[in-house]
Amino acid sequence: MSALVDDLLADVEAKNPHQPEFLQAVEEVATAIAPVLEKNERYRQEKIFQRIVEPERVISFRVCWMDDRGDIQVNRGYRVQMNSAIGPYKGGLRFHPSVNLGILKFLAFEQVFKNALTTLPLGAGKGGADFDPKGKSDYEVMRFCQAFMSELFRHIGPERDVPAGDIGVGGREIGYLFGTYRRLDNHFEGVLTGKGLNWGGSLIRPEATGYGNVYFAAEMLNTRNTTLEGKTCLVSGSGNVAQYTIEKLIELGAKVVSCSDSNGYVYDEAGIDRTKLSFIMDLKNKRRGRIKEFADQFSSAEYVATNGTTDHNPLWKQKADCAFPSATQNEINATDAANLVDSGVTLVSEGANMPVTAEGAHHFLEAKLLYGPGKAANAGGVAVSGLEMAQNSQRLGWRREDVDGHLHRIMKSIHTVSRDASETYGQPGNYVLGANVAGFTKVADAMLEQGIG
Ligand code: NDP
Repeated sequence: MSALVDDLLADVEAKNPHQPEFLQAVEEVATAIAPVLEKNERYRQEKIFQRIVEPERVISFRVCWMDDRGDIQVNRGYRVQMNSAIGPYKGGLRFHPSVNLGILKFLAFEQVFKNALTTLPLGAGKGGADFDPKGKSDYEVMRFCQAFMSELFRHIGPERDVPAGDIGVGGREIGYLFGTYRRLDNHFEGVLTGKGLNWGGSLIRPEATGYGNVYFAAEMLNTRNTTLEGKTCLVSGSGNVAQYTIEKLIELGAKVVSCSDSNGYVYDEAGIDRTKLSFIMDLKNKRRGRIKEFADQFSSAEYVATNGTTDHNPLWKQKADCAFPSATQNEINATDAANLVDSGVTLVSEGANMPVTAEGAHHFLEAKLLYGPGKAANAGGVAVSGLEMAQNSQRLGWRREDVDGHLHRIMKSIHTVSRDASETYGQPGNYVLGANVAGFTKVADAMLEQGIG
């Protein structure tokens, strides 16, 4: 690493102790863009990097609500408004007990470069709460969302900050949040994305992150003159991103052999077909059950519990051609990454945000895998959110094939700019370098043009 990057990172570390995920994300970006900073004196002079790692604004607030037993619950809510140089703040809300400021800052920071890559005018933000929707009744979730929005509403708006979903925030939560915003603000406007189709949502938004990731993977494979057809694929997670990754992989003729939740994974040697995928969607989106039930239902599948597994996750030892981690951050460590390489995987495309540790990513780059970092590969979700905002502004709803066509074109464009930047900086095929450089320069130039602030 260059002395310049060492100094920058030491400064960020000193200012942000106890935020390991944020520091991990910053280090990845700093390392990738080092040659850009070395070459561009104005970026250094105007301290673009020191400015881009500092959120424009952080809002932290109390969320009080009453559970079904009549007990008062207190949670902590946040919105990190990271960067608005190229558009209004945009990024999801995460409801999960692990949520803290450091995690949201890592996610908001990733979002800066991801949103820049989409070709759309989207700034970056992220928010959420340490609320666990698991095991809560619909009314409890509704009361929590109402309490959360009763503070957040004053900080967001269609030209200011437009949140969406993330872990623990799907269609149900977006509905409760939007209803509360509409009543408090007395405006019906496109303030959230991922809305229901009858009230301003976009076709293909639920599918967008998973479909987009598969489109991105297909582009990477195309550089080696091959396709997804007949490839065996490992998918982790069983939520929104995983479900539509599996759907598109099936459509393109791949064989998906796994999915997971936070308790364990299922490995289905016969492959997950459309019928089995419907079972997963019903299980996770309606009945809100555990993935173990998949193995109880289908005899070709085995269930492996992973709670408490610390040194490695046996899911990543299964034989496959491609892997689509789609659950959460750091789900693939150095041992898992080495196992994936050893078992012959040639492509890893990140549906989740930062699912691979820094050491794991290093393995993939060393082994010259086709390795799509989340800020490029999973940008389809926020891209279609941007298209939902465009439809809301027009007061129109576009056809399914039109939105999907835009999504496909955007993912191809993200692949092209990332590949081209990797070539310009002498590391062809290094999408980590390419995506970071392409995203960074777009935002950095906008910040330069808009003056110091
Ligand atoms: P969901 O809440 O729909 O699903 C999350 C899935 O990951 C569930 O299967 C969940 O299991 C599992 N999971 C969550 N936390 C953990 C954990 N600590 N260990 C193991 N498994 C875990 O979320 P999404 O599908 O929306 O998000 C998945 C990932 O994709 C996240 O990293 C998110 O930031 C990223 N992403 C999402 C986008 C979107 O449009 N939704 C856009 C871009 C990125 P369980 O049910 O047991 O909690």
